Amino acid sequence: MLAEMARKLGEIGYLGAPVSERYGGRGLDYVSYALIVEQVGRGCSSARTVVSVQTSLVAGSIERWGSEEQKQRWLPRLCSGEAFGCFGLTEPDTGSDAANLRTRAERTATGWRLNGQKMWISLGNVAEVALVFAQTDPEREHRGLACFLVPTASEGFSSTEIHGKLGLRSADTASLAFDDLELPEDALLGEVGDGFKIAMSALDNGRYSVAAGCVGICAGCVDASVSYATERRQFGVPIARFQLVQAMIAEMIVKRDAARLLVLRAGALKDAGKPNTVETSIAKLYATEASVECADAAIQVHGGSGYVDDHPVERYLRDARVTTLYEGTSQIQKLIIGRDATGIDAILPYAKEESA
Ligand SMILES: Cc1cc2nc3c(=O)[nH]c(=O)nc-3n(C[C@H](O)[C@H](O)[C@H](O)COP(=O)(O)OP(=O)(O)OC[C@H]3O[C@@H](n4cnc5c(N)ncnc54)[C@H](O)[C@@H]3O)c2cc1C
Repeated sequence: MLAEMARKLGEIGYLGAPVSERYGGRGLDYVSYALIVEQVGRGCSSARTVVSVQTSLVAGSIERWGSEEQKQRWLPRLCSGEAFGCFGLTEPDTGSDAANLRTRAERTATGWRLNGQKMWISLGNVAEVALVFAQTDPEREHRGLACFLVPTASEGFSSTEIHGKLGLRSADTASLAFDDLELPEDALLGEVGDGFKIAMSALDNGRYSVAAGCVGICAGCVDASVSYATERRQFGVPIARFQLVQAMIAEMIVKRDAARLLVLRAGALKDAGKPNTVETSIAKLYATEASVECADAAIQVHGGSGYVDDHPVERYLRDARVTTLYEGTSQIQKLIIGRDATGIDAILPYAKEESA
């Protein structure tokens, strides 16, 4: 079913929309991409996850950092939805501290040998190619990281489905293991030492996509709440007649519009080729938190009916909840914004103090 959905998304050009037409994408700008992601996110965050991971994290990284041969090999099939890709950064012991990876890549006579594990990897059970970030030289810390394009059919690759998620129930989530997995030299994306830069540039795009999807959740909450409040009657009138109900809807509308404008600001900077890491973090922080607040308020507008799946609002809340966690938690986004404002890096406080 996931494969069928991916092919349909590919057919209508929703996968790889900003990827060049030369490689099977649509060559759209980032503002247009956000409008697509918003609409998919409004309908279904699990489908939006496919669009975001496939486009922003995987295809975007290959287009930006890959050799011509790597682009030709993977991008057309990722953009058409014939193949899934996944993005393997997080590990069981390494989440927010993404530079501190334990997965090891060792040089061999013919290329590389990979050993380690990844955790919480979206599309990890269905992907044909996994972007895997690994340490090549622990002494070099984040400067030793490298990124590999790993065909999941390789011997030594295994994946396990993660069950019991609060939301995103029709999206696939996996843990991955690499057991003496042999890779040829040309599996390396970029250069040895580029891994951290590749991960951060991918997250700049991934966070933008998540934020746009959350605008869609906010919009869905507004629409569902207006529709319910104008139909549901209490005390002989539609509940929309009550000022306290209108206040909940008005607050959702303000959050939806503020989130959308922050996303579009980040998109305009991306389209102009200007730095946008901080503006993307601001959009991601605001839009994700807004989506949780809007979904919570939308359930309130629906009363008891909002607590069951007759209406989309309980799913909006379950799906929104993960967005403040992945691609950098809200705390990490605040520290990126605070670092830019103060010049002080509070993400790595001890390292700073020691070197001061
Ligand atoms: C459904 C789902 C899908 C995902 N998909 C992917 C994927 O496709 N690819 C991938 O690589 N990862 C993926 N992730 C992983 C996700 O990116 C991580 O869960 C996230 O980065 C947080 O890492 P963690 O869970 O290890 O939490 P931790 O880093 O352990 O954080 C726990 C808490 O401590 C706080 N914290 C940590 N460090 C600091 C600090 N310096 N200052 C202040 N607070 C701090 C955090 O904000 C958080 O509140 C996914 C996760 C989920 C749940």
